[in-house]
Amino acid sequence: MAWRSSGTSNESLITNLSRNGLIRSERVKEAMMKVDRAHYAPSHRDAYEDSPQPIGHHATISAPHMHASACESLLPHLHPGARVLDIGSGSGYLTAVFANLVGPSGTVVGIDHIQPLVDLAAQNMAKSEAGRAMLDSGQVEFVKGDGRKGWAEAAPYDAIHVGAAAAEHHEELSEQLKAPGRMFVPVEEGNVQHIYVVDKKEDGSIEKEKLYGVRYVPLTDAPSA
Ligand code: SAH
Repeated sequence: MAWRSSGTSNESLITNLSRNGLIRSERVKEAMMKVDRAHYAPSHRDAYEDSPQPIGHHATISAPHMHASACESLLPHLHPGARVLDIGSGSGYLTAVFANLVGPSGTVVGIDHIQPLVDLAAQNMAKSEAGRAMLDSGQVEFVKGDGRKGWAEAAPYDAIHVGAAAAEHHEELSEQLKAPGRMFVPVEEGNVQHIYVVDKKEDGSIEKEKLYGVRYVPLTDAPSA
């Protein structure tokens, strides 16, 4: 499932993800078509492989099928005008895809605790004219901070994506969800990690659904050096 979707161009990668059922909706397909993964991956050679790749600072750009899965899960809350928080934004790739999904009236904040990665994400996005426009207008913002605390300045959010494995269900994150709102988060349980979809219902109650096993970089303390 993971590797057979690889392509030789952005278009063929997205087409293969779609053909293999990893992208299910037209909206996600369109948004991923608009963001060239080569602008975010460390080398052009592997940019269209359906695999994670190291981007420095012990971080990785996640595999395209994981990006697709996150978008598909959050999709009902990624309507035009929605507000999104992307925690552990790393390369900035998924932040850019979310921005395309919520349109010019929506806003996306990408947060990472490593300043060079905050800078890298903005540099990657600025490689395209559309990306530059989103940064200039403030539709997309990359900030430095501890994502375990969310980003209260722009809360509440329709959707929160967590791109690193949390050691526990962080209360502050579900508090920053709108009602209704949804969070996609990998959570560590012993030696394994699972994706959870956390739904805040209209009445404010929380429901957690455990999906499949994954392997993400952990959500940690910032390096002291
Ligand atoms: N979605 C990103 C994933 C990057 S890897 C992408 O596909 O490019 C996970 C990221 O989480 C790393 O960039 C790492 O620096 C960041 N991270 C880890 N712990 C964090 C924390 N406590 N707060 C914010 N970011 C964190």
